[in-house]
Amino acid sequence: MTNKKVCVRFAPSPTGPLHIGGVRTALFNYLYAKKSGGKFLIRIEDTDKKREVSGAENYIVESLKWCGIEADQEPCRQSERKAIYNEHVTKLLKEGKAYYAFDTEGELLTLRENEEKKGKTFIYNWRNRSSLNNSLCLDEKEVQEKIENKEKYVVRFKCPSESEVKTYDIVRGDSSIDSSLLDDKILVKADGMPTYHFANVVDDYLMGITHVIRGEEWLPSLALHTLLYEAFGWKSPKYAHLPLILNPNGKGKLSKRSGEKNGFPVFPIRWKGEKEILGFKEIGILPEALINYISTLGWTPDETKEVLSLNELKELFSLEKVVSSSANFDFEKLKWYNHQHIQKTQNDELLRVLLNTKKEDDYDVVKLENAIGLVKERANTVNELWELSRYLFVEPKSYDEKSLKRILKPGGKEIVETIISMAGSESGRADSFVEGVKNSCIDKGFSAGQIMMTVRVVLVGALNGIDLQEIVSFIGLEETSSRAKEALLKVF
Ligand code: GLU
Repeated sequence: MTNKKVCVRFAPSPTGPLHIGGVRTALFNYLYAKKSGGKFLIRIEDTDKKREVSGAENYIVESLKWCGIEADQEPCRQSERKAIYNEHVTKLLKEGKAYYAFDTEGELLTLRENEEKKGKTFIYNWRNRSSLNNSLCLDEKEVQEKIENKEKYVVRFKCPSESEVKTYDIVRGDSSIDSSLLDDKILVKADGMPTYHFANVVDDYLMGITHVIRGEEWLPSLALHTLLYEAFGWKSPKYAHLPLILNPNGKGKLSKRSGEKNGFPVFPIRWKGEKEILGFKEIGILPEALINYISTLGWTPDETKEVLSLNELKELFSLEKVVSSSANFDFEKLKWYNHQHIQKTQNDELLRVLLNTKKEDDYDVVKLENAIGLVKERANTVNELWELSRYLFVEPKSYDEKSLKRILKPGGKEIVETIISMAGSESGRADSFVEGVKNSCIDKGFSAGQIMMTVRVVLVGALNGIDLQEIVSFIGLEETSSRAKEALLKVF
């Protein structure tokens, strides 16, 4: 027997911006599809109109696009498939596997409160369903009348009273649940819309989904979903529930609040909700780095190589290597990945990304690509490239206190004067300038250390920065001389 072609889906609900956990789910689905030569689909689960947030669907699609996670088809929307769910619920109703329930909110509340008084929890299921306000205890005529009279109703699943529901999860293995403990879940709500559970199962089946890869929070629904497949007589897909992503301290699910407290985003791109929230993109994280890092949250490749491109991840991914233990989000590690990916990215591409961030006006954009090449070795984020290359475009506005202490020594002034005279001389050569100044000052009796430090502070304003000769070659002799003159005035 040949295996069915792999088909997976990412099924977000448009209830807000896509969290990093959602990106990880989408990524693992995508990688699994690509690794197996299968299909990756996006399904927008928008049947809960009350929870829908405007702009969220678009945000999800845009975020995934930025991450490089592309679906094989246009996303489909559950809200447009109501007729299909109706058709399927009718089938279950006819076969006695689902029933109409007319219990009002008030009735259910009383039942709940009564149980609570006894220290128990009310569960709508086989124990009590034959004495409640539903089509199991009413005759057909009564049911028809109620429906015709527009009485509000929901459709509930008639959960088997005693059956052992066996489930298998690729990450967690076998488990079994006693169906008598489950409740008769609502399949169709009073507004006529299907619930998540119902639409999700019907669609997974109709879309030919072979593997459901989703967050661990859906594990408790697995028994119900399995029973729904059985009720329809369908073969259920394979399941893989991904471990949680926790806050950096390992306490609780990764939250926006924890991100804010620790200074990092939890969303891929800017979210323009009531309050604007920046994403990883805006703080200068490359999508390749984000993807590479989040691929490690719950999955370890056999490969010892850590820095991997999306294409490499597609080759290496396997669901069998997904672990069940949760992973702590580590922003420092993400920055490490970002640093690595910055080194692998072409300068013109980095320039394109950089220019999309908040622009610094006093930079010569024509020369920026070269500057990026010179300083990127030190960058953990793309945005840092602005600051790291500042002295290549702008003269020091001030001089770092500590650095000044180290160069304000006897002879310092003479070194600066040498810079000015050599930079201004007809025969001055930019490409060997630093060596020239060094030799000349050594001849005058200064130490190489003092000379180099002085040149650095004059050009950069501090004791950091790239190779001095590279700075001079970049800014030119005229600018070198002008900075030295400025230092002479301000410092010596
Ligand atoms: N709409 C669900 C969610 O937002 C999908 C869960 C699933 O993949 O089955 O997480």
